[in-house]
Amino acid sequence: MAFKIPVFSFFDKKRVIAFLIVLYVLCHGYIYFFPSVVDQSPTQKIHVVFRYDDYSSQSPMCLETRLLHLLRKYQTPCTWGVIPFIARGDYHHAKGQDTLALTPAKLDLLRLGIRSGIMDVALHGYSHRSHNITEDGRHSEFEGIPCDQQKEKILGGKNYLEKNLEISINAFIPPWGTYDPNTINILEKAGFSAVSSMIWKGPRDKAGPGGDLTFIPTTVIEPDLRGAIKAARKLPDPTPVIVVVFHPFDFMEYDRARGVFTLESFGQTLEWLKNQKDIDAITVSQAPDKLPGFNGDHFHAYYDMRRLFYTLPVLGKVTYLRSISGVYLSPQGVANMRWRLISISVVIYGIIFIISFCLTHKFLFTAFKKNTKFLRYFHLWGTLVLALILFALFSFHRIEHRRLTLAIVCIAGYTAILMGQRLKNGRFF
Ligand SMILES: [Zn+2]
Repeated sequence: MAFKIPVFSFFDKKRVIAFLIVLYVLCHGYIYFFPSVVDQSPTQKIHVVFRYDDYSSQSPMCLETRLLHLLRKYQTPCTWGVIPFIARGDYHHAKGQDTLALTPAKLDLLRLGIRSGIMDVALHGYSHRSHNITEDGRHSEFEGIPCDQQKEKILGGKNYLEKNLEISINAFIPPWGTYDPNTINILEKAGFSAVSSMIWKGPRDKAGPGGDLTFIPTTVIEPDLRGAIKAARKLPDPTPVIVVVFHPFDFMEYDRARGVFTLESFGQTLEWLKNQKDIDAITVSQAPDKLPGFNGDHFHAYYDMRRLFYTLPVLGKVTYLRSISGVYLSPQGVANMRWRLISISVVIYGIIFIISFCLTHKFLFTAFKKNTKFLRYFHLWGTLVLALILFALFSFHRIEHRRLTLAIVCIAGYTAILMGQRLKNGRFF
């Protein structure tokens, strides 16, 4: 007599499976559609950092003067990534050593901004010239460059800006977001306290820097800011951070082809932002004081947490990643999000297991119940076959949620067959 799954004795089989499928879809919708109901704290404070990159003697003075005027009008602090000695010609080419120091007019504009209290100056490389192409195909002024050369560039740039602007430079913005562990060591020893790279590629130092440096990578460009704020409000995080990066070429006034917004629309964004009570605009240099715990270890922890999104099956990855896109979570936010992702993964994979178990039992085992030879055969060789399938999945398949789903389906199916066969023989494990 065929083994009956107990739950099916009480409920209609189709209803049980339909219920599990609905539950599965609801679990997927949970993070994206309902999180604010559960988690949003009334005391949430969203920190927004504006970062204007590539200020140099070759960047557009007229645009920058108008930009500074706008920032002053709305009293919005902004970090300016300054290249003290911009490479002449195309800085993507390693050839050529010629550089151009900041002109007196450029230095004056920086002094004006600093005096007005809303400009934070960060060192954005030395000349922004690419000296290396990294493993992942990106340009770098620092990654993989000998330590003494990196030190010379960082100290040379910092000293030049400090002497000419009479301020101390604490923030570093690596060009193209690329650096290596030597860069971090040099920055720490040179008295820097904050680094702002790019979130998309994660930390560049494989071992984790530890130390006291604060890391606040860029998360969005300006047109995505409102979407990122909307997403941040839904997240289980008391102090999420949004770092907005923009360049001269992002302004249509300067580059019609590449530009994605205008000074006017940028002004409207600043005005809108002023009216949002839960937003605190800060600079990269203020981050070490305002954002305790945002160190290198946290950057790694955040990035590891993001990897959990890729283990969510089927509808998971895209939907869930959108929920945190544009936001850098705080240590508390990472812990909350990790707990949420793990618990929802357990529920979703549990449901996949039960559905696979039931379907195997219903369709496969029932179909072969008269032909017990197949089951005996499977019983004998099944473990080996299963081990080989799992080995192949995890060795050759690169999409995490897909291989986990397939693994769970295989294990559930095999368990159903094994239990059925054992019960037929009057034994239960
Ligand atoms: Zn740059």
